[in-house]
Amino acid sequence: MMEKIVSLCKRRGFVYPSSEIYGGIAGFWNYGHYGTILKENIKCLWKQRFVFDREDMFMTDTSIISSPKVLETSGHVSTFGNEIFEVEIGTGGETAISHLRPETAQGIFTDFKNLVDTHHPKLPFGVAQIGKAFRNEISPRDFIFRSREFEQMEVEYFTREKEWEKYFEIWRNIVNNFAIEISVKVHEFEVPEDDRAHYSKRTIDFQFDYPFGRQELWGLAYRTDFDLKNHKLDYLDEESGEKITPHVIEPSLGIDRTILAVLSSAYMEDELGGEARTYLKLPKQIAPVRAAVFPLLKNKPALVSKAREVYTNLKSQISNIEFDDNGNIGKRYRRQDEIGTPYCITIDFDTLKDNTVTVRDRDTGEQERVKIENLKEKLQ
Ligand code: ATP
Repeated sequence: MMEKIVSLCKRRGFVYPSSEIYGGIAGFWNYGHYGTILKENIKCLWKQRFVFDREDMFMTDTSIISSPKVLETSGHVSTFGNEIFEVEIGTGGETAISHLRPETAQGIFTDFKNLVDTHHPKLPFGVAQIGKAFRNEISPRDFIFRSREFEQMEVEYFTREKEWEKYFEIWRNIVNNFAIEISVKVHEFEVPEDDRAHYSKRTIDFQFDYPFGRQELWGLAYRTDFDLKNHKLDYLDEESGEKITPHVIEPSLGIDRTILAVLSSAYMEDELGGEARTYLKLPKQIAPVRAAVFPLLKNKPALVSKAREVYTNLKSQISNIEFDDNGNIGKRYRRQDEIGTPYCITIDFDTLKDNTVTVRDRDTGEQERVKIENLKEKLQ
């Protein structure tokens, strides 16, 4: 199963091994055209649910390399040991050793004062960030599950200590609902004290049944006031008029593992019209292509020009529309099925007479005639 997913990812341009022409490099991967769009769509949905749907969230984009003091103070240098990439900053005489961040969170903590001074937010509030993280994993494996360079979507949510349980539950719900929206079945696992990260008093792992077994997909941690205390940062609480150290709830979602879980959940094999086929049953909000538009025959100028007209018009209303006139119609369906395109629209000779097109549903293979003017609504 895993081999089939890896092979589809390469064949259709989702994920390639990094530096492949030089034999590859363990733990690094490149996203191709469709993989990049899938990733962007997942990020967009995450931003919508974790940031824009709420009133108490800020966004940030902090540097990957920071002062060496940051990861020393946070305890990462001592706890991650050789799993943390060293980098030399500067050239010539004046150089310093720092590290590539192993999680995105620290930039949020070290900018806490800037955020408070700029926006004067009232507790509780949160900061969200999407960015790369690096871990020199001893044995990178299982495709994009465990790599040395990966991307995270993280929230640090600041609350008063007495309310941490309430907000832990709220974020737990948001994470579970996000899983449902991307059609990924998660299993919650309460992480026992001995296995929790050095900063956490409670952690729930959201696990997923990958083709190689049940493993962590995302984490939700109660980080207490560990980080802000370490960095000697505090907050003037308007309720009590006292300086306090807010406590932190952190939903941390790895994007690459999310993509693997989405692809594993969506990968389907069935038989359609007497032929075996493979398709990706991707939710349409995240599918890299919402619809593909074909002329029935590519050597009939009247069909091609009508198909291009329909394509151009749809593209101006829904961005991810593709024009496809390669090979015969059967080949185009197979290709779009493997990309996970929910709808294929064919322009045929009847279209020229009555302005209707054939819309084929990816999952059932069923076709229906739809008026061109109703297409946008049909694809929503
Ligand atoms: P694991 O126990 O599998 O090594 P972790 O508990 O160390 O993971 P966290 O530190 O909680 O992971 O990181 C938050 C999220 O970042 C993880 O839930 C996962 O989605 C992602 N992640 C962590 N390490 C990797 C990696 N090496 N490759 C890809 N994604 C990763």
